[in-house]
Amino acid sequence: DRFVAPTPQLGEEKQDRAIRPRMLDDYIGQPHVREQMEIFIGAAKGRGEALDHTLVFGPPGLGKTTLANIIAEEMGVQIKSTSGPVLERAGDLAAILTSLEEGDVLFIDEIHRMSPAVEEVLYPAMEDYQLDIMVGEGPAARSMKIELPPFTLVGATTRAGLLTSPLRDRFGIVQRLEFYNIHDLSSIVSRSGRLMELEVEEEGAQEVARRARGTPRIANRLLRRVRDYAQVKADGRVTKEVADLALNMLNVDAQGFDHMDRRLLLTLMEKYDGGPAGVESLAASIGEERDTIEDVLEPYLMQQGYITRTPRGRTATKLAYLHFGIDLPARFGS
Ligand code: ADP
Repeated sequence: DRFVAPTPQLGEEKQDRAIRPRMLDDYIGQPHVREQMEIFIGAAKGRGEALDHTLVFGPPGLGKTTLANIIAEEMGVQIKSTSGPVLERAGDLAAILTSLEEGDVLFIDEIHRMSPAVEEVLYPAMEDYQLDIMVGEGPAARSMKIELPPFTLVGATTRAGLLTSPLRDRFGIVQRLEFYNIHDLSSIVSRSGRLMELEVEEEGAQEVARRARGTPRIANRLLRRVRDYAQVKADGRVTKEVADLALNMLNVDAQGFDHMDRRLLLTLMEKYDGGPAGVESLAASIGEERDTIEDVLEPYLMQQGYITRTPRGRTATKLAYLHFGIDLPARFGS
């Protein structure tokens, strides 16, 4: 498995449970999201209503699931969680919908991966709290309407553009999560350290943060491995030096790039002369899925300014050449 993958690794969710923020006040960073959600939640609670349906989008590991759970906790309601690919048939969704109590949160992760048949069931449920389902088969089949209690759908997806527009239009609140800056990631590392009863120096936290690709899930994973290193090779304290040595040993470079980022960038520069290269050809060249490039590798590289996306494909920026110490092509001038 890729060490700096932003998706959860085996057993990680369980370890994460102890450090996952439970209330908005512990949700570090994302100031706009926090400020808005505080108002929307406060208002809905004040009126004694369910919160409007909320869509949260952003790359993996930035806190979508965490936010959904916080919404339920702050609203004082139950949360039921599922995901787009798990809901295979309309009946799967109907079963969950009919189990909801008033005000509950229904969290659907990877909501863009629902089948059209399941999505059809969701529309009247979101709009009128009504379930329209067909029961029986053939000539005996008839449609049935079931009233649902008011509830809040929280949908998560990596890119808002993946949703059909009728689905997107049914969300009253849309929140976009951004990659975290070093300052906020350092706070997350320090907070996790405290919860793990680990002594983390300020500069140690910053070193972990710098290499965490703007992603809290990766920051916490790096911290766990740095803790191991600190325990065995040092006195248990996470200093800048210990963090640096541990992460070098794990092949995570100073920018948080690993072999996959390096391969993507080097291929773009060396094989495609810096681009533009189509995402399909790049995927074939480095032996990765197109989706992995678009959802996992590219967002961070673009946000950091190493790659740009043009209508004709991906291009490597000057920063990419400088990072790898490769001679700049003539088009950058001298
Ligand atoms: P996603 O659903 O976007 O893939 P998660 O919500 O599962 O991401 O977040 C991954 C982990 O990162 C969480 O378990 C939590 O420990 C941590 N995390 C996410 N967002 C924050 C935040 N704003 N503050 C502190 N920790 C966070």
